Amino acid sequence: MTSTAPPLAILGSANMDLVAYVPRAPRMGETVTGRTFRTIPGGKGANQAIAAARAGGDVTMIGAVGDDLFGSEIRATLTEAGVGTTALRTVPGATGTAHIVVDDNGGNTIVVVPGANDTVTFLAEGDEARIAAAGALLLQLELPMEGVLAGARAARSHGVRTVLTPAPTQPMPTELLQLTDLLVPNEHEARALTGTEDPYEAARLLLDQVPEVVVTLGAKGSLYAARGAEPVTMPAFPVRAVDTTAAGDTFVGALAVACGQGRSMADAMAWASAASALSVQCAGASSSMPTRTRIDAFHK
Ligand code: ADP
Repeated sequence: MTSTAPPLAILGSANMDLVAYVPRAPRMGETVTGRTFRTIPGGKGANQAIAAARAGGDVTMIGAVGDDLFGSEIRATLTEAGVGTTALRTVPGATGTAHIVVDDNGGNTIVVVPGANDTVTFLAEGDEARIAAAGALLLQLELPMEGVLAGARAARSHGVRTVLTPAPTQPMPTELLQLTDLLVPNEHEARALTGTEDPYEAARLLLDQVPEVVVTLGAKGSLYAARGAEPVTMPAFPVRAVDTTAAGDTFVGALAVACGQGRSMADAMAWASAASALSVQCAGASSSMPTRTRIDAFHK
């Protein structure tokens, strides 16, 4: 375990993914019969929290679930993974849900209903202290922007490193980028933010706005760029991927744990690549995230 590493705080979304597997997706007005159905705890915040906790981090999740069965189930899943849930509020109404239809070609359509996540527009009592005590605050864009900004401001005012996953893609206030220490887009998000196809060029452009960038490139690996430093490129592990859902969240969670232990960025990226390579080899998002022991054994 990482007894000497500072804790990690995650301010983000928690959703229940409701996944129907169908031969083909229905058209508007049409009903099709599905093959199977699964409920899978998800949301980028909860996924990053679970990934970091399984990777050995001391993790606190700040966010909200509804007072329904999905909320209790998500809380139980987080707790079982070792994530602290004292700061996960339970609010009246529905937990966030993602309604996912996956067809036989692996294509999908998704409707997200934010539910309780939409109530996280401010930091509740105790949240600022939790952030202040953390080594880093992980943020994504599935909560209201006011809430994300409140977290980033609190982190900056206490000198806590902020790690932002700019997903889902959307316009961001300049202030949020100014409050970001490490930005971790995937290649699509990097392109959306900069308008360039070339991830190296995108990373270089992003350094005008943030001091450090890691662009993840799926099976092509990842690259790191920082102001005034040599870029680092990290190949992905050659594995047979069966489900790449939340590969990026697994990568970020593990990366934050490794950075918190004071490892170099190259070393942390290699370890995070091992974690995500393990996760893409099994179905399910949160359920496929590897433990520290498995990551160490695979990474060697
Ligand atoms: P996201 O899930 O946010 O789209 P990516 O697809 O870029 O993120 O994946 C994040 C990281 O996961 C990559 O940098 C890589 O290390 C690992 N990864 C993703 N897909 C694969 C794959 N098919 N094989 C091995 N590693 C993968």
